[in-house]
Amino acid sequence: MLADWIENGLPCAEKGVRATLLTPGPTLRYSGTVPGWIAGQYERDFGLVDLAGLAKRAGVELVLDRCVAIDPDAKCVTTGAGERLAFDIASIDSGGVGRAVSVLGDDPRLIDIRPIDGFVTRLEALPDAARVAVIGGGAGGVELAFALNNRAGLQPQEVLFVFGNQGLMPEFSKGVRSRVAQELRRQNITLIAADARIEDGVLMAGGRSLEPVDAIIAALGSAAPEWPRAGGLACDDQGFIAVDEHQRSTSHPHIFAAGDVAARQDCKVPHSGVHAVHAGPVLAANLGAAMRGERPKQSYTPRPASLYLLSTGQGEAIASYGPLAAKGGWAARLKHWIDNSWLAKYAALVQGL
Ligand SMILES: Cc1cc2nc3c(=O)[nH]c(=O)nc-3n(C[C@H](O)[C@H](O)[C@H](O)COP(=O)(O)OP(=O)(O)OC[C@H]3O[C@@H](n4cnc5c(N)ncnc54)[C@H](O)[C@@H]3O)c2cc1C
Repeated sequence: MLADWIENGLPCAEKGVRATLLTPGPTLRYSGTVPGWIAGQYERDFGLVDLAGLAKRAGVELVLDRCVAIDPDAKCVTTGAGERLAFDIASIDSGGVGRAVSVLGDDPRLIDIRPIDGFVTRLEALPDAARVAVIGGGAGGVELAFALNNRAGLQPQEVLFVFGNQGLMPEFSKGVRSRVAQELRRQNITLIAADARIEDGVLMAGGRSLEPVDAIIAALGSAAPEWPRAGGLACDDQGFIAVDEHQRSTSHPHIFAAGDVAARQDCKVPHSGVHAVHAGPVLAANLGAAMRGERPKQSYTPRPASLYLLSTGQGEAIASYGPLAAKGGWAARLKHWIDNSWLAKYAALVQGL
């Protein structure tokens, strides 16, 4: 949205319309580059997007805090510092929150991949030659298991990959699953096909202890934040904001939501970066329409298949596109090109500030 406003101007600015970006920090870390940082492909801050710069270029006021409550009827949000910000139209794109403690139980060794900045900070403090358990058999867990197994500049670590009773990457094709399993075995990553749980300070899976373990990395997908439902916004049964085909709240049409925090009610849109990014321009067009007092018209329709590229941490990637699967150095180069182009686009927009 900020990129759209930089390129096309803030809708109705001439009529005195103002916009505010409420975000916890001046940058956004692009999660797709985090496995590459762990495996030594990128510098730690390679994947940072300059939100403060984008907001400045777009003529948007920046408030560095987080939303902790929303009153959609009174049209205001409350920040962590207790400030109340009034709005006529709001767009909520705050992503999901971690669910490690609720699924596994609490433990000082537990490191949730969300929020992603907290994950990076905790991981930096992880000792050399650690025995690490990665919990969660989705694409994020697979990439982190590969990345940690090839953690840059350290002694080899031992990685236990606990991918759960549902199996490895259940939403991907058979071809992708078998290539991933083959590569995990080739890299000597220990595979455990059972649900994990921390019981009395012991990491358990399938009725047996996995100890000793130095760090427990949870890649369990995201949960919904509590404040949208608590504020009275219509949500799905998991608490994600229910939106229509125009990304508009089904209960409060002056509120929009997109990305992992939203749940489309007219069709299934998986929570992933691919869909969050593609919904962006649609959201910008619909917000612009609402700001002009028009009806939002655009809708994001996911393609039948999306391209996913899973880095193996050793210069190759496994590509998944619907039923198709492939592996090679070319896929890693394609992933780098896609990620780099995405980041470069936003860096170019703030250049010269
Ligand atoms: C390690 C890892 C690798 C991944 N790799 C891929 C990949 O290769 N391809 C892919 O498609 N997906 C990938 N994903 C998933 C992808 O990161 C998410 O689906 C995507 O980031 C969702 O985008 P979003 O804009 O909805 O939320 P986010 O990217 O989570 O952004 C949310 C923003 O809102 C801010 N925020 C949070 N709470 C508040 C609040 N209360 N108030 C104000 N601001 C708030 C956050 O600070 C953040 O800036 C990966 C995820 C992880 C963890």
